[in-house]
Amino acid sequence: MSDKSLTGRCLCGAVRYRCGPPLIPATLCHCESCRRAAGAHVVGWLTVRSDSLAYAAGIPTEYCSSPGVFRSFCRHCGTPLAYRREGRKGEVDITLATLDRPEAIVPIDHIWMEDALSWDRPGDGLPQYPKTRERL
Ligand SMILES: [Zn+2]
Ligand SMILES: [Zn+2]
Repeated sequence: MSDKSLTGRCLCGAVRYRCGPPLIPATLCHCESCRRAAGAHVVGWLTVRSDSLAYAAGIPTEYCSSPGVFRSFCRHCGTPLAYRREGRKGEVDITLATLDRPEAIVPIDHIWMEDALSWDRPGDGLPQYPKTRERL
């Protein structure tokens, strides 16, 4: 593995993973699906090559949250870990906050602000998009 590989884990540590560097800049998603899946008003995501993701311990459980969309989580502690979409072959999104060093990856914008709760108004000055962003 190269020095650029990242590692992370769920809350209880039953699932540990390693993945390659982000393919595109990380983002903060305010969509309703992420909100409900994580129980949080916003979820940070980084996108990596799916063949770079390897589980060093445990295998997360996958839940089909909409047609062709799969969210994985630890079946012991419930931590959301990954998101993949059949239409996006070769890549997978990882929950940024489960990285061992989450501060190493800095999100550059906010997406799906049209779903954001009325009190969820980021004041960090980063760009905010009503839906998704253009592919960078
Ligand atoms: Zn766990
Ligand atoms: Zn989302």
